[in-house]
Amino acid sequence: MPVASESATQRLRITLRGAVQGVGFRPFVYRLATEMALTGWVLNSSSGLVVEVEGLPDQLTLFGRRLEGERPKASVVTIRESAWIPVEGSTCFEIHASHADQGKSVNVLPDLATCEDCRNELLDPANRRFQYPFTNCTNCGPRYTIVVDIPYDRPNTTMKDFVLCPQCREEYENPANRRFHAQPNACPICGPQLEGTISETAQALLRGEIVGLKGIGGFQLLVDARQPAAVARLRQRKRREEKPFALMMPSLAIAREYCEMSVAEVELLESQAAPIVLLHPNPGTDIAGNVAHCSPYLGVMLPYSPLHHLLMKECPFPLIATSGNLSDEPIAICNEEAASRLKNIADHFLMHDRPIVRACDDSVVRLTRGRAGILRRARGYAPLGILVGRDLPPVLALGGHLKNTVAIAVGRDVFLSQHIGDLETLEARQAFERAIADLCRLYSFKPEAVVCDLHPDYASTHWAESSGLPVIRVQHHQAHVAACAAENHVEGPYLGISWDGTGYGLDGAIWGGEFFRVQGKRYERVAHLRPFGLPGGDAAVRQGWRSAASLMYEVLGKEQVFLESKGTAVSEARIVYMLDRGVNVVPTTSVGRLFDAVASIVGVARENRFEGHAAMLLENEIGTLRTEEAYPLSSGDWAPLVSGVMQDSRAGVPVSRIAARFHNALVNWIVEVAEQVKEKQIVLSGGVFQNRYLTERAAAVLESRGFVVYTHRQVPPNDGGIALGQAVMAGS
Ligand code: ZN
Ligand code: ZN
Ligand code: FE
Repeated sequence: MPVASESATQRLRITLRGAVQGVGFRPFVYRLATEMALTGWVLNSSSGLVVEVEGLPDQLTLFGRRLEGERPKASVVTIRESAWIPVEGSTCFEIHASHADQGKSVNVLPDLATCEDCRNELLDPANRRFQYPFTNCTNCGPRYTIVVDIPYDRPNTTMKDFVLCPQCREEYENPANRRFHAQPNACPICGPQLEGTISETAQALLRGEIVGLKGIGGFQLLVDARQPAAVARLRQRKRREEKPFALMMPSLAIAREYCEMSVAEVELLESQAAPIVLLHPNPGTDIAGNVAHCSPYLGVMLPYSPLHHLLMKECPFPLIATSGNLSDEPIAICNEEAASRLKNIADHFLMHDRPIVRACDDSVVRLTRGRAGILRRARGYAPLGILVGRDLPPVLALGGHLKNTVAIAVGRDVFLSQHIGDLETLEARQAFERAIADLCRLYSFKPEAVVCDLHPDYASTHWAESSGLPVIRVQHHQAHVAACAAENHVEGPYLGISWDGTGYGLDGAIWGGEFFRVQGKRYERVAHLRPFGLPGGDAAVRQGWRSAASLMYEVLGKEQVFLESKGTAVSEARIVYMLDRGVNVVPTTSVGRLFDAVASIVGVARENRFEGHAAMLLENEIGTLRTEEAYPLSSGDWAPLVSGVMQDSRAGVPVSRIAARFHNALVNWIVEVAEQVKEKQIVLSGGVFQNRYLTERAAAVLESRGFVVYTHRQVPPNDGGIALGQAVMAGS
């Protein structure tokens, strides 16, 4: 803060940017200024929250300090500017009406889980909002999913058609009230209403029926997680084979009966974002086996809206709560859309008349290296900006193909959309286009260029080419490490390690086991996995045994492949034919595919039922085993490793030991390259680093040797983080 020259009355203007709207910031400033007997005003503008205060310099300095120290806990301040301005002789402190001005750069706030005050009122028979499923206040409630435009004021939300009753209006206009300018403020008299009842819905769940519930960011499908037949029906109708389902637990106390959790994990569960937290389940509970299948984790969340709280009170047991869609399609948000799209999945619906503007799935978070790392970024986090180290040109980044998100760069903020999904279906591609239009409109953003992946056939690449804007193409694995470096504000040269399943390489091959020495704009590919042939290209992504056959073919020769492989002779014969002639064989350096191959050779998984499935199972095999043993993988040459895996497998070495030796080999190779390249800073990115054993061990070993290791926190290591990296690289 600038220093005031005299001790006479001064006037200070403070501008705050970040997530400062819709969190009770103005009443907080009003109370603080009034308490300190300062005069002036506060207002929300499209470029941030602006405060002007007049008083003695000491007091103003103290005000500035308290403004930071006592601000509402839901707020996020990314930029703060202070300036001394001419004294105006104001006589009181006021909250001015919002005004829309030129640049819209203020953050739209994410949806916030129901606060404790609102929860208490919900269960208090004497309160006028007793059992009212849409109660909220400035500390909680929907935001991003109801805002149509900014500034965030009621006429710009889907609450505009609900006219406040006199009592709600009085709360809304009273700066001393918890609901002062709570835009979705509502009560049973004037607010949204349920269509259906909570008790009927609870009865349906108890009968094992599938319920379509209109939640915060769209419809959820709920089912009793203790009933295997009901869970199986949901899997079959949703066409979801083995991918684990997330659970909503009635309370923290009940969640504890089912899962182990640390203090940090409890904090995450109870945070305002209220994400799905991946936890280790306790053995021997009544959760049906087909909820999470072989996954070592159970995805758990707590009720985050009043409607969820009321329903879970009637259903005091774990419920599956999964996105209301067919596998891989976007989540349904309108009542009519849900009624038609989900009619063959849900037996029963519970809807309401508060419209949802945009779909927002539940976010997924897991603790890695002792810190929260977001694996799917949507409700509760989107669309908070990611602050990067420098100003970026105004570009629109389109992300990758799987787990797509898009982003816009506004100054030092990159606003990342919520998780959109795999751009495989028409519905997903429409959702992708809506997300682009939506972000641009919310921030009055006009991109100067569009950034896409290098892959010529991605739907997003085609969209970029037809956009009429200049197109910047960014290599997939470079974007991965750029994203991780950007969110960690890594300055100077670093070694970026980018490992995933699939991405289009600069040479047209499928990359995925890459090391880059990065300095400014320069990405030097300093190492990579020894290439091998992927027979059938994309088919090998699902059928991991193809990668196994290919590696065994290389290591053993073709005759042995038949004997060693555990697949059907016909399919392997076809692969050998392809490899012999090099027909439909695409070269790859993908570590993800190496995971598939090893998982297949040891018999853990021949196929990926969802992205990263085989790798997850292989990691899970390690269990609590800790060993320093490792296969050789020097210079990324997998041949000695594959021989070792096959020998051990034949000799009956426990799979846990093979899995650990394999993971350790990867870590040793990382360390080998790091010591050759000699950059102190190491950045780990790509879907392979969702593997907690690998990430934690690599980080620990590197740190023990003096390296500084950066991993993802705010954006996912998987392709959900690509858009951030693209936006950053377009600006360099
Ligand atoms: Zn509240
Ligand atoms: Zn009311
Ligand atoms: Fe990737």
